[in-house]
Amino acid sequence: MRLLSFHTGDDTPRVGALTELGIADLTTLLPPHTGRSPMRTLIATTDRTQLADAITTAPLLDPTAVTLLPPVPDPSKIIAAPVNYVDHQQEMSQPVHIGSLGVFLKAPSSLTAHGGTVRLPYHDRRFDQEGELAVVIGSTASHVPEERALEHVFGYTCLLDMTMRGGEDRSTRKSFDTFTPCGPHIVTPDEAGPVEELELRCWVNGQPRQHALLADLIWNVPKLIAYISSVMRLEQGDLIATGTPAGVGQVHDGDTISVEITRIGRLEITVTTHGALPSPTLGANRGPTPPATLTPIS
Ligand code: MN
Repeated sequence: MRLLSFHTGDDTPRVGALTELGIADLTTLLPPHTGRSPMRTLIATTDRTQLADAITTAPLLDPTAVTLLPPVPDPSKIIAAPVNYVDHQQEMSQPVHIGSLGVFLKAPSSLTAHGGTVRLPYHDRRFDQEGELAVVIGSTASHVPEERALEHVFGYTCLLDMTMRGGEDRSTRKSFDTFTPCGPHIVTPDEAGPVEELELRCWVNGQPRQHALLADLIWNVPKLIAYISSVMRLEQGDLIATGTPAGVGQVHDGDTISVEITRIGRLEITVTTHGALPSPTLGANRGPTPPATLTPIS
């Protein structure tokens, strides 16, 4: 199943499934007024069999007539993996990887949809793209062993972990509004297949920048879920950004960034510096040194 969040012009979030005939609108089948987005309500209240039945009877919408939202517009948190590929560790000249660093948080308010615009806030700082696979959590997970971790996965989607380089805390450098493009839709595990078989590619203005096998994650998805759930309770709709491979590089005003993952989809956004200001913080020449030139991809 491919599930998406969207609105039809009135900014009211809706949830649907992508079918060959159009978008099956599942919104009215859900309990109203839950205080959460329809996608989070669907994840929390609907099992796979109910969902498959609902899709066959739901009203159909024209996909060209809707505006996409981030697949989960309101996760309780976005947890992200720093340095989770060896080739990215090397290009950043990092002595340690996730095994020493643990994880960090990105503000949920940084989410933006497929087709959206990433706004670079400062004109005197470097900003890079990081293409990543994101995991969408399907059920509350606390202290989950690796062997049972995949039971808590609702699905997978594409994500860009946009990053300001420098010495500020990661939560600052990666949480500017629009700095977490996500989507276009969530693919359930039955359709995504084993993560180890997936490949990620990222382009800037059509030029290839990143190419990785998800099998090359230093901490794979079960290990990430087991570890993160030992630190903080995972809730339905929470997102885990699994980390970026080699090939990060600077992005500029007018650039188009695309991330594609086998069987998951293709996420595309544009970049603008409209309204950019001088940086109020002084971390430009501190922190890990990013690659001066683009790292050739395999
Ligand atoms: Mn990242």
